[in-house]
Amino acid sequence: MVPVLHEPVGRPVRLVPLVVGWEPIPESMSVHGGDAARFLLEPVTAAAVVFDHGWVLVDGGFHLDRVRDPDARATHYQYESYTPVVPPGDALAEGIADAGLDRGDLALAVVSHVHLDHTGGLRLVPPGTPVALQRREWEWMRSGVGRRETVVPADVLDADVEVVLLDGDTVLAPGLTALDTRGHTPGHQSFRIDLPDRSVVLACDAADLRRNLTERRRCGWVAVPGDEGDAQRAVERLAALADEPGVEVWPGHDPDWPAWSLR
Ligand SMILES: [Zn+2]
Repeated sequence: MVPVLHEPVGRPVRLVPLVVGWEPIPESMSVHGGDAARFLLEPVTAAAVVFDHGWVLVDGGFHLDRVRDPDARATHYQYESYTPVVPPGDALAEGIADAGLDRGDLALAVVSHVHLDHTGGLRLVPPGTPVALQRREWEWMRSGVGRRETVVPADVLDADVEVVLLDGDTVLAPGLTALDTRGHTPGHQSFRIDLPDRSVVLACDAADLRRNLTERRRCGWVAVPGDEGDAQRAVERLAALADEPGVEVWPGHDPDWPAWSLR
């Protein structure tokens, strides 16, 4: 397979976990069969995959300008039992800078899926940067989804980026592979990063919590009724990867996952 990223980036040398906000989520939304009345304050996560040359941004949290604008916040982000929680400043920009990374060296941004807690980082991406998402996700986004589906299409459509559409598993660059984990949304993807000493799979929302993987239980939220089987296959795929020696699977929103507790 020819990598999507044509410029030479070498191989991944470092993975930088980023926590860019928090959100109250009922357990039943993260884990099928979970308690609808038990709320977890879940981290909103992103990551930087640092290559020999340049780096790749994975997701990016909320669009801070919209979250901090009262009208936009009311329109896009406020629900009966949901509100975005963001720390002061700009956790994504600061996390990138603290990792010693320059936004000008960004080779690619990848979006696991278009829920509003994943697409907001594109506001920081330099003009013309390629942004990879699954074609199925793009088509779902373009089908008229919005508030009801917790999608802010403008996060993607108004960004000055070059959208690259993927069809299933795709080698993005040597050591970085997109994995088709559809189900949570129609074109959800996870990412495998092959580092020098281990491989890390960022499950994103195909497995919010460690429990999804250990109990092989799918996410509770499926955007399109009927996709529950896909979501179950996705979590089983990730759980099987977690059983492989040298492979870590990081759940996307687990408040107790060590990588998301670093500050
Ligand atoms: Zn999601």
